[in-house]
Amino acid sequence: MSLSFIRVVLVATTHAGNIGATARAMKNMGLTQLVLVNPKHLLPNPEASARASGADDLLQNALTVNTLEEALTGCHIVLGTSARERQIPWPLLNPREAAQKAIESTINNQQVAFVFGREHAGLTNEELQQCNYHIHIPSDEVFSSLNVAAAVQVITYETRMAWLETKPLEKATSDKTADQPCTHDELERFYKHLEQLLVTIKFLDPTQPKHLMTRIRKLYGKAQLSKVEMNILRGILTETEKSLRK
Ligand code: SAH
Repeated sequence: MSLSFIRVVLVATTHAGNIGATARAMKNMGLTQLVLVNPKHLLPNPEASARASGADDLLQNALTVNTLEEALTGCHIVLGTSARERQIPWPLLNPREAAQKAIESTINNQQVAFVFGREHAGLTNEELQQCNYHIHIPSDEVFSSLNVAAAVQVITYETRMAWLETKPLEKATSDKTADQPCTHDELERFYKHLEQLLVTIKFLDPTQPKHLMTRIRKLYGKAQLSKVEMNILRGILTETEKSLRK
C-alpha cells in the first residue's frame, strides 16, 4: 500500500501556474505522480516552476499525454471531480469517502487516478463517464467552483489523512520498547515510591492521608504513561531522595 499508486490527472489545464500549484499541493501530501492531458502550456514553464516552489521534481517527472484514455492506462479505479451536479447521476462521493476508497484500492495494489478538469469548463460529460465515481467537494452552492489546484489540495489532504489512519498499526509494531505503555505493576511501584517521598518531605501525613494518593492515582492514570516517561518520573524521585540525604 502506497501513495505512489495514486496519480493526479489534470485535463486541458489553461493556466501553467495551476500546474505548478498542483505539484506543490501533491508533494506536500506525499503524492508524486502527475499526469497532464493536453495542457495549453507545455513543461518546462517558468510560471509552473514558480508556483511549484520546491516541487519541481514532480513537474520534471510529470507525464504529458494527448488523451484521458492514455492518462488512465493501467488504472483500476478512476475518480473524477466535478464542481456542479451533472445531468447524468453517477455514483457520487465526498472527498473523505473518495480518499477512503482510493487508499483501500492501493492496499490491494491497485492503481488509482483522481481526475481534475479545465479551469473554465471542468470535465466534459464524456470524460466524467470514464470515471468509476464522481467526487464533489461540498462547497457553498452559490459559489461552488474552487481553483483547480485548491481542489487538488482538498482531495490529496483527505487522501493523506486516510493513509495516515492505516499507519498506527504499523507504528505500534515498529516501536519495540521506547513508546510502549508502562505496565500496571510499574505504575504500582511508582505510586509506592512517590508515597514514601511525599511522607519524607511531609507533604503526606500517613495518619491523615485524606484522599491524596487516590487523587494522584487518578491523575497519573489519565496520563497513560509510557515506559520512558515512567523512567523519567522514577529518576526524579530517586534524585530527590539523594539530595534530601545530603
Ligand atoms: N466551471 C467549471 C469549474 C471548473 S473548476 C465547472 O462548472 O465544472 C476546475 C476543476 O476544479 C474542476 O473540473 C474540478 O476538477 C475541480 N473543482 C473545482 N471545484 C470543485 C468542487 N466543488 N468539487 C470537486 N471538484 C472541484
